[in-house]
Amino acid sequence: MHIRFLGGAREVGRSAILVNDRLLLDYGMKTGNPPQYPVDAPDPDAVVVSHGHLDHVGAVPSLLAGDRRPPIHWTPPTRELALVLARDTLKLHGGTYDCPFTEQEVKRVTQVSQTHGYRETFEAAGHEVTFYNAGHIPGSAHVLVDDGDTRLFYTADFHTESQRLVSASTARPDADVVVCESTYSDVEHDPRQQTEERFVESVRTTLWEGGTVVVPAFAIGRTQEMLMICAAHDVDCYVDGMGKGVTRMLRQHPEFVRDPDALRRAKSNARFVTGRDGQRERIADQNTVVVTTSGMLSGGPAMTYVPAVRANPTNKIAMTGYQVEGTPGRELLDRGRAEIDGRVMPVSAQVESYDFSAHADRDGLLDLLGSYRDAQVLVNHGDRCEAFAEELGGEGFDASAPGPGDELTV
Ligand SMILES: [Zn+2]
Repeated sequence: MHIRFLGGAREVGRSAILVNDRLLLDYGMKTGNPPQYPVDAPDPDAVVVSHGHLDHVGAVPSLLAGDRRPPIHWTPPTRELALVLARDTLKLHGGTYDCPFTEQEVKRVTQVSQTHGYRETFEAAGHEVTFYNAGHIPGSAHVLVDDGDTRLFYTADFHTESQRLVSASTARPDADVVVCESTYSDVEHDPRQQTEERFVESVRTTLWEGGTVVVPAFAIGRTQEMLMICAAHDVDCYVDGMGKGVTRMLRQHPEFVRDPDALRRAKSNARFVTGRDGQRERIADQNTVVVTTSGMLSGGPAMTYVPAVRANPTNKIAMTGYQVEGTPGRELLDRGRAEIDGRVMPVSAQVESYDFSAHADRDGLLDLLGSYRDAQVLVNHGDRCEAFAEELGGEGFDASAPGPGDELTV
């Protein structure tokens, strides 16, 4: 088997792996200014997508340029999320150099889409492919690829601890080669329940004191998780931004959600914000909780809520995910100020950060890899891939960390 890393190698973002020059696994983009794409524009016979996050699916419509029509294989939620993200990218960058595809190419996505459930083997570009639940977000998959000689297990993003929204990754099919993500290879998460309890207690304190709590959250996965936590603890909340539509969509795919009833309760516990007639400014004045995009304060209705609550030290901004260097969310955590629409504002409201990660931590990565002691391990999707590969080597693994553009035969 021939493997070429086109992106997501020794980095997080723009994931893309070409197998046997024919089968493309993921085709993501790395947000930033300007956005970055995989190192080469491949012309695959088929595309397989692990899950509906921008860094894995963001550039997929561009594979349908001209008269190219490779089938795209994914789970039903991944298909929906890919379309949500593509439309959002068009809205943000459409018609500019930063947009890798056109509206027409996005429309073609539905024509070539082929959806599959977990554990249903299908054929793609001459390979046998099977998806397994990866426990990251609804519809997220580990991808097993068999070319007749070699079996490749592409973990993509995964979590070995259950979240409220999705249950943990447990499948460990036999494989000769494992491409393993390593986002949190040097992190140990606190137990989920502890993080959740700290979050709820903090929210309750602010509500008791008469403040407003703004909870910036990624639209896909995290927003639903936060709504489920609020509902489980009887905390009333509002929900705003792209996460609203994603919540409605996921209700249509109960088989990819851990507890569909709990998601239903979470949806009815949350009040959906329309944003009309100054509704957001009014909510920001209320003694309530609002879960809103974007998770790193780089856009979305959070840009209205944060300036509205920032001056009052009784209020709270509770970050719920990793803040990438250079984002306004990171700036807020590190320096206590927010840059909104080019204006830098001091923030007197309390700022807190909670690790509701949807990725395995170091123990989780080692737990999965423990089932693949005899396999060749290729570490990707992390900021310290080479260091982690070296640590695995010390544990007796045959591990390496290919760089962007690297090719190898396994
Ligand atoms: Zn992801």
